[in-house]
Amino acid sequence: MNDIIEIRDLVLEYGQGEEEEAIRAVDGVSLSIPRGGFTAIIGRNGSGKSTLAKCINALLLPGSGVVYVDGMDTADGDLLWEIRQTAGMVFQNPDNQLVSSIVEDDVAFGPENLGIEPEEIRRRVDRSLREVNMYEERKKAPHLLSGGQKQRVAIAGVVAMRPSCIVLDEPTAMLDPYGRGEVMEIVEQLNKEGVTIVLITHFMEEAARADKVVIMDRGRVAMEGTPEEIFSRAEELRAMDLDVPFAVELAERLRRQGVPVPGEIVETEALVEYLCQYK
Ligand code: ADP
Ligand code: MG
Repeated sequence: MNDIIEIRDLVLEYGQGEEEEAIRAVDGVSLSIPRGGFTAIIGRNGSGKSTLAKCINALLLPGSGVVYVDGMDTADGDLLWEIRQTAGMVFQNPDNQLVSSIVEDDVAFGPENLGIEPEEIRRRVDRSLREVNMYEERKKAPHLLSGGQKQRVAIAGVVAMRPSCIVLDEPTAMLDPYGRGEVMEIVEQLNKEGVTIVLITHFMEEAARADKVVIMDRGRVAMEGTPEEIFSRAEELRAMDLDVPFAVELAERLRRQGVPVPGEIVETEALVEYLCQYK
């Protein structure tokens, strides 16, 4: 099976009480996430991104439609732990995710809950901390760390459960540019090692580094494609109140000045490379 996550006709409504009108947060989404890929999901606030993420992690169950995680139906309660272990989740606020007073205990928390042997837990904790470049800080108290470091510890906690897929819901939203860079580096590293990445972000530069981009709008998938396909449709994105990556903006202005920057250049690095060779 080439898609690790398969979502078909998913509808999710909040507040179906007697008095309130239901809010349809996800409104008929069908989406496949390629195994081993790096998929970015973008969309303005309230477009249903977090709700969709929670459906993948079985934190929310479909109102209608189905969500399969590595072939497992999230509506099957018996598979809950296997699903959460397969698709780990990293949230926006690192402070809400760290539960222990020592970094390494925090990373051990997930594997402990899976009932893994202490020796194996030790190995996984050390390895995960090294992977996110936080091994040196393993004895520290999480509250003494920077936002970027905390978020990397949260990622290590997920990595220690050996998930095939990690869903990150705006993991860099509360970080400064340095912290964002640190987290993105780890995310790309994990992806290179074969972990499927689903990154929800409102930073277009981050999305431009993915190999698939999904645009959500009012609970639906509005666009889907490679970053090149998506970001070259700058006008449509702006009509949905979305920015385009800095490189796309700059490329447009260069074109107006007569520099023929190809439309598939959507990343700063690629633009710099092009301009260095342009005569
Ligand atoms: P996003 O992550 O794209 O900002 P969300 O999935 O958080 O979007 O929200 C989608 C819609 O669902 C919004 O209208 C939001 O107000 C509503 N919503 C989100 N969470 C809840 C909740 N727990 N109860 C009621 N409505 C909610
Ligand atoms: Mg959200």
